Amino acid sequence: MANDRSVDWKFSGSEAAKEASAASLGTYSSKLFALCDPLGKPILPPRSKSAETSHTAEKAVVEAVLCGTGNAYAPSLGLPVARSAVAEYLNRDLPKKLTADDVFMTVGGKQAIELTVDILAKPKANVLLPKPGFPWDVVRTIYKNLEVRKYDFIPEQNYEIDFDSVRALVDENTFAIFIINPHNPNGNTYSEVHLKKLAELARELRIMVVSDEVFRWTVFGSNPFVPMGKFSSIVPVVTLGSISKGWIVPGWRTGWVALHDLDGVFKCTKVLTAAKQFLVINSKPPTVIQAALPTILENTPEEFFHKRQKFLKEKADFAYSKLKEIPTLTCYLKPEACTFLWTELNLSRFADIKDDEEFCEKLATEENLVLLPGIAFGLKNWARHSIDMEISTLEDALGRLKSFCERHSIIIEVPLKDVNGVK
Ligand SMILES: *Cc1c(COP(=O)(O)O)cnc(C)c1O
Repeated sequence: MANDRSVDWKFSGSEAAKEASAASLGTYSSKLFALCDPLGKPILPPRSKSAETSHTAEKAVVEAVLCGTGNAYAPSLGLPVARSAVAEYLNRDLPKKLTADDVFMTVGGKQAIELTVDILAKPKANVLLPKPGFPWDVVRTIYKNLEVRKYDFIPEQNYEIDFDSVRALVDENTFAIFIINPHNPNGNTYSEVHLKKLAELARELRIMVVSDEVFRWTVFGSNPFVPMGKFSSIVPVVTLGSISKGWIVPGWRTGWVALHDLDGVFKCTKVLTAAKQFLVINSKPPTVIQAALPTILENTPEEFFHKRQKFLKEKADFAYSKLKEIPTLTCYLKPEACTFLWTELNLSRFADIKDDEEFCEKLATEENLVLLPGIAFGLKNWARHSIDMEISTLEDALGRLKSFCERHSIIIEVPLKDVNGVK
């Protein structure tokens, strides 16, 4: 038989996603998990186990399956009952109410980000993204050739947005500022005062605010979650949501985009039309989950979230106190939300580690422990630790982290004591 390679085939794979895929979190985490030794200590964080979702949510999906309400195709904008359920849910905290027409269903928070990026992508356009931030925004902006400009935070000030850095980045082609609230990976929530200032700044700069709020249900600090939609009488706001994190069901792939319009701005700037057109050509979240969504949103008992928040707070307190024993890592804020600790590596105190990637690679190889390097979130020489595990597992993880850091840190020479003036 002829060797197939002897034929000069006319086709070859596109490289269009090469650069964008390299920036994805999955690319970093798969590489690190592959460095772990399957025959060694248990690999942490445990990949198979995740906390249980609410029974209400499970039952709602089972009922939708049994009733057949989710067997058909859904309309491209989403199932009407799901859209109105999301609007009603968000309206609980909003002075300016949404209707079902302002909400579009998406394949999780990720497609909500994609949709927003698609709407904004035009030649020469640029958007402001957080540094650090959840990388999907970056992945999609790279893919759509949209220019990314990254604004900073003030770690010492509860990770508030550095408004000076925002001002410095804006020019006539800047269309939007993306925020993440609660912030992954910083682990903070923004105060009402700060968000209002942001709205006023965005209005002055004539840009919209896109707020990714997928972590709004896992808040356990003293700062309550305030939705950006509250300020849509100042500036046009787009909020992105998803049941993935709050209900611990990322595999259900259901999220939304809500347009909090300001006096019809989204209509006359054709943002609304663009959103609908992109939704026509996009894939949809599973109809069966959309059919179950009204029950999921309305009937999940508050107790489910309180229990989860308590679980995470305990882990945040514990991990934060343990981290104090590791001088080579600095954690500026005990997390108030999300499921991570975000720490800076004090590289000058490491003997043989040059950056965050090397740190994470050596840690995975030597300790079977996976932390994600800051560079995956756009900020070099930081690291993100998961705290979403049982206390004994977390203790094990932090113990390994501590001994790893001690093993690799510079031994500080203690000067010989002067005894009676003689060395
Ligand atoms: C996980 C996450 C998403 C993605 O949400 P999915 O519903 O899993 O697609 C978006 N934004 C942030 C900040 C996230 O942490």
